[in-house]
Amino acid sequence: RELTVDLGERSYPIYIGQGLLDQAASYFQKHNIGNKSPLLIIADSNVAPRYLAKLEQVLQAGGYKTASAVVPAGESSKSLAMLGDLVGKALDAGLDRKSAIVALGGGVVGDLAGFVAASYMRGIKFVQVPTTILAHDSSVGGKVAVNHPQAKNIIGAFHQPEFVLYDLNTLQTLPPRDVSSGLSEVVKHGLIWDASFVDWCEANAEKLLALDPDSLGYALYKGCSVKAAVVSEDEKEMGLRAILNLGHTIGHAIEAVAGYNEMQHGEAISIGMIGSAKLGLRYGAPEEVYTKTKRVLAKCGLPVSLPKHYDVDAIMAAMMHDKKFKEGTMVFVVPTAIGKVEIKSDVSVEWMKEIVEELKLEA
Ligand code: NAD
Ligand code: ZN
Repeated sequence: RELTVDLGERSYPIYIGQGLLDQAASYFQKHNIGNKSPLLIIADSNVAPRYLAKLEQVLQAGGYKTASAVVPAGESSKSLAMLGDLVGKALDAGLDRKSAIVALGGGVVGDLAGFVAASYMRGIKFVQVPTTILAHDSSVGGKVAVNHPQAKNIIGAFHQPEFVLYDLNTLQTLPPRDVSSGLSEVVKHGLIWDASFVDWCEANAEKLLALDPDSLGYALYKGCSVKAAVVSEDEKEMGLRAILNLGHTIGHAIEAVAGYNEMQHGEAISIGMIGSAKLGLRYGAPEEVYTKTKRVLAKCGLPVSLPKHYDVDAIMAAMMHDKKFKEGTMVFVVPTAIGKVEIKSDVSVEWMKEIVEELKLEA
């Protein structure tokens, strides 16, 4: 499968299929990535032992000079210190303005490697080879970043890749929690845009959890398509792109309280989307918005309530920290039907607190 992220001159394709890693060199050639200048492949410590040698070998067989850098797996690699190390690696390997940085991995490596590509020599080419389901989200839209101790993703840029090569075979080794966590954003793309895709996710959840390649390919294709449609209308996040934050205000607050290891991003967003659906009911959405949201997320193996030990006040405090909070009301993405959301700017703090309490009671 193939789709295009339509951004005028910065448009790029996403290729999704089995065994694409084996054909990597021909995709690089097709996209005019020259083989005179070296490439730097960045992977993390879980992905490198599985797929790095393969990718290097295929590219070298295609006439490319490659260097590689392996960073420790996990969010903490998205740091300025790591950016500095990687720029050092790029210099050592002799990367020049015509070189490309290749991100082989999940969203962490995609964001980090993308930011290296955006900043090295004021920006060089960038290719994404995603290996997680969640990375379908980060591979569309061009947001690249590292974290600062005081805030996630606060140092970054918009830097679009030349193309995205999604080899479904690499997903076979994903740990089950990462499978579910990635599906959370897939379902989110249905909930904001496409009711029939939500139905499809519900009907095919078991196959997705079993990593059936055809089902995964379709889910990633649809998820990327929705994100691409939203992003191409609003590349720099002036308006419409805000709907992609469904479930994220509550989710980020849960993540902040949980610490990043206890709760995965997609898990926190799942609980956040249940909270948003509850909010939808208060704005008059049909009951189905809530029941169906809950059903499809549960079928994907995701949590749909807040574990008992979470402190509601701590979550509220984390949410108030959020920039979207203004004088007793908050801005929220609220589902009004399955496949449809609206931005409400008058959500009261009291309502939110009641909803977080309800989320906990369901546990
Ligand atoms: P990740 O990159 O840390 O991957 C999750 C885990 O899976 C890691 O331990 C990784 O080593 C491992 N892994 C990756 N591929 C594997 C494979 N094929 N087999 C076995 N193990 C594998 O995290 P993620 O969930 O992919 O992405 C989360 C990151 O994405 C966050 O930093 C988030 O900020 C970012 N993100 C960015 C955007 C964006 O628009 N730029 C959007 C969403 C998320
Ligand atoms: Zn997210």
